[in-house]
Amino acid sequence: MSEAEALVSDEQKPRPLNVFFDVDNTLIMWNGKLRNHTRDVFTALKDAGHTIYVWSGVGIRQWDMKRHDLDEFVTDYFIKPLEKHHEKLESLGVPMVPDFVIDDHKSVVDAFGGYHISDEAGPEDRELLDVLNMINVFALDEREPSDEPGGGIPVE
Ligand SMILES: [Mg+2]
Repeated sequence: MSEAEALVSDEQKPRPLNVFFDVDNTLIMWNGKLRNHTRDVFTALKDAGHTIYVWSGVGIRQWDMKRHDLDEFVTDYFIKPLEKHHEKLESLGVPMVPDFVIDDHKSVVDAFGGYHISDEAGPEDRELLDVLNMINVFALDEREPSDEPGGGIPVE
């Protein structure tokens, strides 16, 4: 390989990720307000080629996203498994394994990988900006997202 070719191959392209956001106390806080920076982070994720899904343990939350004018960013909505996370994906109609989840419930993050977000957000909250940075790094990381066999199951 020539030096130039080596340089080109070193130029990493971000891997498109399926990013799953929880709703309650992740995007929408206890007072019904949207967490800071949600719209900017959704815009940045879409611009980077990632796909945004929204899921919740209590139902399909499209209305909530429409109310906050975010529905246009969301590719699909699902009901989130609250236990046996991987096993229940199929029966809940989730057609892929999430690459990166953002959730205030640690069990979901432990199951799929992602960011365990605080369930409280002050007026200066910047946690979603940290999420964006972490996703950007993760998307450039050449390592497989999961060590378990079949972790990178291709989607039809
Ligand atoms: Mg939650």
